[in-house]
Amino acid sequence: MPQDPSQLVHLDAGKIALESSAGPAPARKRLFGLDAGALSALMVQMGEPVWRGHQLAEAIYRQRVEDLSEITTLAKPLRRKLAAEGWEVGRPRIAQVFQSVDGTERYLVQCSGSQAAGTETVETVWMPEGDEGEAGDGSDLDGAEKDTTEKGWDRATICISSQVGCAVNCQFCLTAKLGLQRNLSAGEIAGQVVAVLARHGVEVGRDRVNLVFMGMGEPFLNFSNFMGAVRLLVREVGLSPQRMTVSTSGIVPGIEQFAQEPAEFRPKLAISLNAPNDLIRQEFMPINRKWNIESLMDAVRLVRLRPRERITFEYVLLGGLTDQMGHAQEVARLVRRTGLPAKVNLIAWNPGPGIAYSMPQPGAVEAFRATLTAEGVPTYLRRPRGRDIFAACGQLKRTVEG
Ligand code: SAH
Ligand code: SF4
Repeated sequence: MPQDPSQLVHLDAGKIALESSAGPAPARKRLFGLDAGALSALMVQMGEPVWRGHQLAEAIYRQRVEDLSEITTLAKPLRRKLAAEGWEVGRPRIAQVFQSVDGTERYLVQCSGSQAAGTETVETVWMPEGDEGEAGDGSDLDGAEKDTTEKGWDRATICISSQVGCAVNCQFCLTAKLGLQRNLSAGEIAGQVVAVLARHGVEVGRDRVNLVFMGMGEPFLNFSNFMGAVRLLVREVGLSPQRMTVSTSGIVPGIEQFAQEPAEFRPKLAISLNAPNDLIRQEFMPINRKWNIESLMDAVRLVRLRPRERITFEYVLLGGLTDQMGHAQEVARLVRRTGLPAKVNLIAWNPGPGIAYSMPQPGAVEAFRATLTAEGVPTYLRRPRGRDIFAACGQLKRTVEG
């Protein structure tokens, strides 16, 4: 069995530490985060029939009820009894909203009741019409259709955080500046999604919503909570794992464990490749000294892809450093050598305060894409969304200005 990747935290080059202090906040009696089975067990414990648990799950995850008093399917005395025993719905709440001129919204989501030490808010992003990167359903360019519904969006992508901060320390990423503050629980991860679905009145099963686990944090260093959230989102909320994509910086034990997840609960996989070779990659991704590109690709090959599913390789273009034509040719060879059905998502580096990299020159991104495409690698450009509100990739740092 692979080691539990959530126990590993990588700090700087080659340095590895067992993590014990970054667990979720002390357990409060929150119903949100418990699945229908656990809610049923709770109901039975309180002398109620099993199906009461399913009613609770329905209210919390499908009707998106936020307060016990509003769960009208339960008799009032039962609601009062739950409250008296200290239970609350406890869904994370959107505490602050930043709106971009392009329709993107960035949220500070309050995860627990207390405001302790700034570790209790995370960032979640709503992108109507997506960013052309992960449609989540295999159709990469369907964002071209616009505003065909009365809601004002035809499809949307929600970008979710898995940790407060991040320990991986990629040099170009603003989230890295926070260090790892703590892991989010499964309920806190899934709660971001339900809070945003509620805000936008999303009808699950009708509206096209994709989830990307690409916000703050490294999902594969919080593996069991991340997968717990996916199971809640699939089973209780009703979303499809084929419309979810998880991105990892390359935590090999995490990918190995991910490969063993059943298809019904396994999102699609994106790998933050970001460089054409080990030498360049390890310059700004210290994780590469622990797991180099070859070991990363070996792990990725363990994932049993669904028909038509592809692995995404994300590639952040750093001006002058990783955006040259020679790099594009090297990336094409690298991707072809994996033998995997794959595509590349290019992301022009988004600037952040105190980070000394450059954006690629105008034209470099398109030229890079053209080279990869000519080499036979399907390549897409991720549109920067919400740069004006610090909502774009790598800009999430609980920035309150904007
Ligand atoms: N920790 C995970 C997921 C969150 S980061 C990971 O690294 O994969 C999501 C994506 O944003 C990654 O592909 C990362 O390389 C990219 N990214 C980070 N900082 C960025 C920046 N400043 N500009 C553009 N992309 C960035
Ligand atoms: Fe962490 Fe991803 Fe940022 Fe790297 S790019 S520091 S893994 S959030």
